[in-house]
Amino acid sequence: MITEILQRQHDFFQTQQTKDVSFRKKSLKRLQEEIVKREDAICDALYADFKKPKFETLAAETQFVLAELKYTLKKIDRWARPKRVSASWMNWPSSDYIYKEPYGAVLIIAPWNYPFQLAIAPLIGAIAAGNTAVVKPSEVTPHTAAVISEIIKAVFDPAHVAVVEGGVAVSQQLLAEKWDYIFFTGSTQVGKIVYESAAKHLTPVTLELGGKNPCIVDATANIDLAAKRIVWGKFLNAGQTCIASDYILVHESVKDKLVDALKENITKCYGENVEASPDFSRTVSQKHYTGLRDMLEGEDILFGGHSNDTDNYLSPTLVNEPKMNSKLMAGEIFGPILPIISYKTEDDIHTYISNYGKPLAAYVFSNNKEFQEKIIDTYSFGGGAINDTVIQITNKLLPFGGVGQSGIGAYHGKISFDIFSHHKAIIKKANWFEAPVRYPPYNVPIKFAKKIKHLF
Ligand code: NAD
Repeated sequence: MITEILQRQHDFFQTQQTKDVSFRKKSLKRLQEEIVKREDAICDALYADFKKPKFETLAAETQFVLAELKYTLKKIDRWARPKRVSASWMNWPSSDYIYKEPYGAVLIIAPWNYPFQLAIAPLIGAIAAGNTAVVKPSEVTPHTAAVISEIIKAVFDPAHVAVVEGGVAVSQQLLAEKWDYIFFTGSTQVGKIVYESAAKHLTPVTLELGGKNPCIVDATANIDLAAKRIVWGKFLNAGQTCIASDYILVHESVKDKLVDALKENITKCYGENVEASPDFSRTVSQKHYTGLRDMLEGEDILFGGHSNDTDNYLSPTLVNEPKMNSKLMAGEIFGPILPIISYKTEDDIHTYISNYGKPLAAYVFSNNKEFQEKIIDTYSFGGGAINDTVIQITNKLLPFGGVGQSGIGAYHGKISFDIFSHHKAIIKKANWFEAPVRYPPYNVPIKFAKKIKHLF
């Protein structure tokens, strides 16, 4: 079945229809209409999958994607046009261009944590750039996968865009095919498998992966505001956000104050009984829930730590000074557990950050500009914020992606259009003049040849 879908997409791509920008716009508009029409159904699906609050689904899934669609529709004509660049004297007289050419058939593999946004946002870029696409939603959020499938079936001919539902086995069957581009969002571990499969066919990739994101709070920080913004970014989606703070590094002089402010803000957001709050999601599956509970074994819990097996509920939990070699600090947490680690010197910060690979995000709460810049300059990470968390994803003009083990490439807005396009260099040469110097026999004096660099 997968081979047939892909063959149909290759055939459709060959008809050249996707090269027509008005065709792409029509497709994106239809997608937009269908998402608007089914916005409540999408919210219901995410609620059924892990009790995601409707406000969070609207803000971080449907409205996010609709904003991306609106922006793409507004700009697509300009992005798709060949871009003229300055010509070099070497080729005078000529006019030089970058043409944006679609790759062909794109495979998009999505994770479960923002299951709608992370399947549809890359799809917008793929369609806008003139590709065909197969989307594989996550099997961990089956209700959302079903809605994605319904939307795509309602909008597209499968020869243009199709959904293939399934788990690891299906994902591996998809990866065995030869795609023209693969866009993967998920764990670093699976990212390596995807990269290996892509390498067999020299298929270009974007890998949007995870990491252990530090959040540094120094002695000059506005602690109350820091706590408010950390709590929001961490417990949104029950901590299942790739760019959420994974752990806090706080200067020892302000640790107690920060812990008190974090506790106060958790209660302000979710009430005394978080389990009853309509604004707090559940852990997505029993497997993930059990994994998180295991991480808490033997730890010093400062706040929370409550759980309920019946619906994978784990409350917002603060952990005091976990050891670096503990389960909690071994890898990405990806749940509502926040380790609080105090530091004395910048060397202590370095010990932590350099212990893990390059993270997807890093945050600094500080009023010391020099310290802010030092962290930005010293450490390599996907992106981040000063005096806030998570918000870097909301600006469509900023690239969203990791570096090193947190990923390869980035997207959103125009960058999405660009990654799904081959940038083809074209020089249009005039015929009315021909400089004789480049042709053998080379009679150009060597003295002149040594100045050729000025003509490039
Ligand atoms: P995952 O890697 O387990 O799964 C992602 C996708 O890959 C799913 O569709 C799944 O079916 C498929 N898959 C799983 N195992 C596979 C295998 N062995 N071979 C082929 N395909 C396989 O990730 P997840 O648990 O769905 O998502 C959580 C991870 O994703 C976290 O690490 C998180 O940081 C990361 N993430 C990154 C971003 C980002 O934008 N950088 C966004 C969201 C999540």
